[in-house]
Parts: sequence; C-alpha cells; structure tokens
Amino acid sequence: MKKRIILLLLIILIIPINANAKTLREFRNELNAAQEALDKNQSQIQATQEEIDAAKARVSEIRSEMTSIDNEMIEINRKIAQLNEKILEKDKEVKSLMKYYQFSNGESAYLEYLFKAKSITDFIYRMSITEQLSRYNDKLIKEMHSMVEENKKNISDLQEKEKQLKALQKELGEKLVILGSQMDSLADDSVALKDELAAAQATVEQYEKLGCKDDDDVSDCARGQLPAGTRFWRPMNLAYITAPYGYSSIYGSSWHTGMDISTYHWDPGTIYSISDGRVAFAGPNGTMGNVVMIHHNINGNEYTSIYMHMSSIYVNSGDYVSKDTALGTMGETGAAYGAHLHLSLITCLIYDGDCFNYRNYTVNPNDYINFPSGLYVDWNDRNTYYQ
Ligand SMILES: [Zn+2]
Repeated sequence: MKKRIILLLLIILIIPINANAKTLREFRNELNAAQEALDKNQSQIQATQEEIDAAKARVSEIRSEMTSIDNEMIEINRKIAQLNEKILEKDKEVKSLMKYYQFSNGESAYLEYLFKAKSITDFIYRMSITEQLSRYNDKLIKEMHSMVEENKKNISDLQEKEKQLKALQKELGEKLVILGSQMDSLADDSVALKDELAAAQATVEQYEKLGCKDDDDVSDCARGQLPAGTRFWRPMNLAYITAPYGYSSIYGSSWHTGMDISTYHWDPGTIYSISDGRVAFAGPNGTMGNVVMIHHNINGNEYTSIYMHMSSIYVNSGDYVSKDTALGTMGETGAAYGAHLHLSLITCLIYDGDCFNYRNYTVNPNDYINFPSGLYVDWNDRNTYYQ
C-alpha cells in the first residue's frame, strides 16, 4: 500500500509538471515508454528467476552428492574396521602357530610327538604345514594392510571432494542471496512500473474521452467544456460528519485532505455529485479505493470533487453529471477503516497541469458546502440550510 501512495504521489508530481503545452501524442509516447520499461523489467525478472532456479537445482544436487559421499565414507570406514578385525584375528592365528612351531622345534617337541603325532612322519608333516600356514597368514595380513591403506586413501579423496563441494555450496549460497535481493528490487520496480503504466494509460484515455486529437495541446482541449454550476450541495441525503478536514485528534499528526462522512447501516448510502460537472475519473485507484473525480465549473472557478472508498460506482469517466446524479454507494474500499465517504474538494481540474499534485490544492469542503455544525450531527436531505 505504501508503494501505491508513493506512486500516486509520483504520478501526481512528475507527469503533471510537464502536462502544460503537451500534446496527446507526447502522452502516448510516455505510455509506450512505460510499457517498454515494464516489458524490460518483466524479462529481467524472468531471467533472474531462471538463474535462481538453476542455482537452487545445483544446490540440491550438491546436497545429494554430499549425502552419497557421506554414505560412501561410512561404507569404507566399515570395511576398514572389518579388515582391522581380520588382521587382528590373523595376527592371533600367526602368533599361536608360531608358538606351536617354536614349541615343536624345541625340547618339548618330543613330548608333543609322544602325545599327539602318530609317527615321526606325521610329526614332520605337521611342522611343515604349520610353517606354511604361518607364511600364508603373513601374506594375508600384508594384503589386508595394503587394502586398509587403499581405503584410507579413498576416504581422503572423498574428503577432498566434499571440501570442494562445500566451497561450491557456499559460493552458490552467496549467489542466491545476491539474486534474491536483485529479485526483490526488480519486483519492487515491477509494482511501481505497473502503476506508472496504469496511470499513463488512464491519462491518455482521459484526454481521448475529452476529445483531444494527437497533436492537440491537452491543456487546451481539456478545458472549457464544463457545464456551469452555481454552488455545491451535500453529497448524501441522510448522513453525518465523522472527521473534519485538516489536523484533528482523529487523524493525529497526519493532515486529512478531506471530510469523512458516514450514514446509518439501514441507509443505502447513495452518493451524489456535489454539483454539475463532468466525471474526470471513475474506478479503483490505490489507497483511494473505488473513486470518482468530478470536474466542476462553479461561477467560472475550477474545482474537482473527489469521492473515495466507494463500494460501487454508477458513472464512467467522461460522463456529464448534475447535482442529482447518483455516483455510486458509500463503502470501505482502499485504505478505509469502516464504511465512509472521504470527500475532497480541490481548486483546480485534476489531470490538468499542476493540479495533478492535488494535495496542494485541497480546501475545506465545509467552507463550500453547507453542513450542520459538529461531528455526528445528522442531516436528512441535501437542501435544508443550516445556520
Ligand atoms: Zn478521509
């Protein structure tokens, strides 16, 4: 919402300053430029999104690569543990064989021979088998040690790979942060550019409706076609004021650019034009919600009345209205808390020159329209004059 307000101010401040002595064609060019800027922004958004998607995909690939490396390392460590266990076993076997061998070679060999071997041939046979077994086991142990070394090397290779992946992951993470903030600012621009485009479009349509031709100076063709009125009337039949114009306790430190008016829940809340005039804008417009803006010519002076937060709108831009034309109904669209009509009165024709900066031209509607005095004091028709 804040962005919309800023934008509205931008539209009000930037476009209008050059609005004098500008042709409709120039406004069309601005509209085209706004469209081009938005298109460019949208394609940048798309490209950035693609980059983000690619980086995210790579990050998740890396994550699964790292998981499989971890699993591989667990498997290798398990193998190393198994090998170490076997080495211990074989080592024990070798030691006990060696014992037997030494024992058989020693003085007690004869005893062994006496107790276990059936013959001297059997005894010698046993001795040679023992020796072979021991040699074989030695060889096995050597092989297993080299397998352990190999596996350890595999692990350090994997650790190196994991280190590289972690660095890449970090790099991608940083890239994603940068892309994310790029995306944020592109999205911010997008909102602003879309509003800008809508405003440029509304401006061109407005001048077209007023009958401006491509090479007409819009400040000429937009002027002097207003029905003349003599005074302003209250905008609703049965209603009361809930907040005054300007500073008040209701809006605290913020300047209230109009009057807030409300009615009872059983009343249809119909809103009428405060005088004869021509509709300059009718439709949704940011924080104003559904809004109708009417150009008036009162005794030769230019005014615009603005009716904000409407729930429905009955008129179209370009329509001629009288003080009895129903414009729509009271509502709470846009930045409104509770259903009410925010009525602003400004002393120039909005869309015309500097008047885009309408906040500089607001006046207190209470000085131009007769209301009973005081907040929440109701009136029952649009004509009764209150002293
Ligand atoms: Zn208000």
